Amino acid sequence: MTRALVASRPGELAVDDVTLRALGPEDVRVRIAGVGVCHSDLSMVNGTLRPSYPLVLGHEASGVVTEAGESAGVDVGQHVVLNWAVPCDTCWHCTHGQPWLCSTIEGITGAPGGTLADGTPYDACLGLGAMAEEVVVAASAVVPLPNDVPLEEAALLGCAILTGVGAAQNAGHVAAGDTVLVLGLGGVGLSAVAGARLAGADRIIAVDVSDSKESLARVAGATDFVVASPDLAKRVRSMTDGRGADVALECVGSATTIRQAWTAVRRGGTCVVVGVGPKDQEVTFNPLELFHFSRTLVSSVYGNSDPRRDIAGLLEHVAAGRLDLAATITDRITLDDVPAAFERMQRGQGGRALITFPDHDL
Ligand SMILES: [Zn+2]
Ligand SMILES: [Zn+2]
Repeated sequence: MTRALVASRPGELAVDDVTLRALGPEDVRVRIAGVGVCHSDLSMVNGTLRPSYPLVLGHEASGVVTEAGESAGVDVGQHVVLNWAVPCDTCWHCTHGQPWLCSTIEGITGAPGGTLADGTPYDACLGLGAMAEEVVVAASAVVPLPNDVPLEEAALLGCAILTGVGAAQNAGHVAAGDTVLVLGLGGVGLSAVAGARLAGADRIIAVDVSDSKESLARVAGATDFVVASPDLAKRVRSMTDGRGADVALECVGSATTIRQAWTAVRRGGTCVVVGVGPKDQEVTFNPLELFHFSRTLVSSVYGNSDPRRDIAGLLEHVAAGRLDLAATITDRITLDDVPAAFERMQRGQGGRALITFPDHDL
């Protein structure tokens, strides 16, 4: 039996004993070290997404392989970060350089994970269900980590950091000397700030509704901090000789902030939609501004990353001291504290909450 955080229906969470699915020849069993509380986990239980229930939450995690199937090709004892978006390598997008749009992972919210104590089958969030003491996943869903990388914090490489850094580098193509605007400073937004800094941005203007995010933003690499307001674009232009930002990274996912980010970008600049918004809002543009400003509007899906390639690049930054895995972590919690972490997230408080397992001797 494994303790896991089970959502039995929207809004109903409990830590329960579950039985993981049997280990297949190509699977590994991973003892979890750290799990980040991601906004997508909240979206799975607050009605934004419609997964099937019961569902074990969690998809941003690290751990140690404790058992491996005969053809898994992974050693027991290997430190790993879990990958919730395993590309198939054969579909059109995979064979055309866009594995993050792989057709086999499009729209997936869960996969069979095991059974609850009463025998009811449950789904594992994004195929991982990592808010648990242990998981059984396909070997293709683990990316090896060097032993000297802080294991608990490395969980964030699996979602927030890959998504945020990838948004800046792969989707926004932030270049040395750029002025970058980042709206929304949760785990992903703060990682987008770090990504812009890694890409050599000169000026990084971080924006949030809460001024409590300023110190986190500056630690992540922001040069300027602005509290969100309706005249944001005007303020950004006044900070950039009237031009606007070269790249905006919108990490909220609302029509208002997407429109603000777009308006704050210079002629010929790029606005990246990173936040996952609802479908009952609309963003409007007039034809003349589309022509005149010549801006690019793109979205970033999982940082337009291939985790198998891009986590290695992030680890080089970690090894060189350019990327601090713990910089965005503001709360260290246990499985039982997740509902409170969701409440803080909804109030816009804090950076990343990291679930750890003090009993795990890893
Ligand atoms: Zn996530
Ligand atoms: Zn594919």
